[in-house]
Amino acid sequence: MARYTGPSCKQCRREGCKLFLKGDRCTSGKCSFEARSVAPGQHGAARKKIGEYGMQLREKQKVRRYYGLLEKQFGLYYQLAEKKEGITGENLLILLERRMDNTVYRMGMASSRKEARQLVLHGHFTVNGKKVTIPSLLVKPGDVIAVKESSREKAKIKELAETVEAAVKPKWLDVNAANLTAKVVALPAREDIDFEINEQLIVELYSK
Ligand code: SF4
Repeated sequence: MARYTGPSCKQCRREGCKLFLKGDRCTSGKCSFEARSVAPGQHGAARKKIGEYGMQLREKQKVRRYYGLLEKQFGLYYQLAEKKEGITGENLLILLERRMDNTVYRMGMASSRKEARQLVLHGHFTVNGKKVTIPSLLVKPGDVIAVKESSREKAKIKELAETVEAAVKPKWLDVNAANLTAKVVALPAREDIDFEINEQLIVELYSK
């Protein structure tokens, strides 16, 4: 599946907020958004009045970039969210949270969703005992995510495993840091998504 390969920090500057796309760097003094938060481009620093459509578009782009998705993939999640019962905006965020790469990130086994995606693609995880290499797989209550046995001795995995204990975990995941496993105990809830998002703006955008 295609993915964005351009500079990550530029995306934060474009959206006017920190999207935490580069792991530890984002919380260190090296975060480039802290040093220069204006939008990229020649006229990035110019004050622009943003209209209703602009606000809706920016909100959608922000969420799309936060989860590391391309336009088409994001649109498919929206279609799926619309078909589900309940509030479309919340359905959308819950679907995105359930992605396998996000789950690995949330369990503390990666410093960013991008890194989590790489780890999943390289087959370092299992779901219910079966190797998984699909970052977009949607986990569901009852699923057990684990680091694959043969991957546990790899230096990179060992290094990442040390961060699991201290990571802030969401309520929908029961993480066993010693075993490097996480059980999905419930569907993610809206309040589990701590990033500032106004999902209603995204719904308004797609309803046009
Ligand atoms: Fe964004 Fe800062 Fe992380 Fe770069 S380092 S991706 S600007 S939060």
